[in-house]
Amino acid sequence: MTKESVLSEYQQRFAEWFGCGTAFAFWKGRVALYAILKAAGVGQADEVILPGYTCVMNVNPIKYLGAKPVYVDIEPRTFNINPGLLAKKITGRTKAIIAQHTYGYTCDMDAVMDIAGRKGLMVIEDCCLALGSRYKGKLAGTFGKASYFSSQWNKPYTTGLGGMALVNHKALSEKVEELVRNEARWPEFAEVIMLWAQLCAYRMLVYPRTTALVQNVFRRLARRGAVLGSSTQQEFQPVMPADFFKRISPMQARSGLRQLKMLDENVANREAMAQLYDKLLGEKGWRVREFDKSVMRPVMVRYPVRVTEKAGALAEAAKAGVELGSWFECPLHPKETPMEIYDYKIGMCPEAEKASAQVVNLPLHPRTNKLTIHRTVEFITRFQQAV
Ligand SMILES: *Cc1c(COP(=O)(O)O)cnc(C)c1O
Repeated sequence: MTKESVLSEYQQRFAEWFGCGTAFAFWKGRVALYAILKAAGVGQADEVILPGYTCVMNVNPIKYLGAKPVYVDIEPRTFNINPGLLAKKITGRTKAIIAQHTYGYTCDMDAVMDIAGRKGLMVIEDCCLALGSRYKGKLAGTFGKASYFSSQWNKPYTTGLGGMALVNHKALSEKVEELVRNEARWPEFAEVIMLWAQLCAYRMLVYPRTTALVQNVFRRLARRGAVLGSSTQQEFQPVMPADFFKRISPMQARSGLRQLKMLDENVANREAMAQLYDKLLGEKGWRVREFDKSVMRPVMVRYPVRVTEKAGALAEAAKAGVELGSWFECPLHPKETPMEIYDYKIGMCPEAEKASAQVVNLPLHPRTNKLTIHRTVEFITRFQQAV
């Protein structure tokens, strides 16, 4: 099989799972966002709206194109864009709204689509954390003109690094295709080999108990350039690295094809495990996930809970071998982000800032089992829940 045919099979299978759209696979999720924005003609002085509770790597593509990110605060129960605050942020320069489905909870898509429709704005869904989630029975990723996905280490399924754009609009998908043909590079052989080795090691080594340890070792090596981290130092400034716009490698695409075959099982497993968290946390008297079950069917990537002592919980977890996640650590995760350069001023999104200070997230990946969940609940409920 040629490079192209492996990719096109992966893309086709992905779009088939959704039953609509055209899929384009990239080196990372952020690259897929860049392709969508660029194909949509977003450029100098345009504005793009997104929640102020995100990752800086999601903001970079906007800045790379010379556009301005405009942040909307979140709704505290779902951590998603608050539609009540959205309309006020729209100006004559607004081009698009990024509806990020955080942790797996879907945005209030009726409200978002309604506001966007009235103002003639494009909706792009960030499904990096919400593969398989549904809103009123319809899959997240099928509402907007385009959506994007990530298959980085921590995402619903992993190909090491990886991203996908799903384009639900013919003219836009022709633009993306043209952009890929004319401008996208193939990854270097050396980086693909390095990623492949990491992916093999990951599949062998990363069990929940060792994750904190492995991640620490991994981050240290990544800082020295010995392994491929998810982000490079260059990506903490809003200037596009020369080799940013890359396709996915056939190695990742093959891995993705294997993951897609197990996707229904992955989704069902995540739903069942999240329900087990609901049950066990509820038994401990904790407030559990609050969402309207008649509207939303979330497939969680991690299970977020609020604690009063986030730093303490994270430190204890590392010692106890409990896998707690800490994203998002600030409105533009991670803490190292120079937020003013990305047009975020402290105080802009108070609910997002509060959530950043309180939320830790609990594991739900395919290797999470009932025992892990029991242990994790025992651990986290020794702390005090925040409201
Ligand atoms: C991970 C993530 C991205 C970016 O994905 P990469 O593949 O790391 O580029 C974008 N948005 C959200 C919400 C994410 O969690």
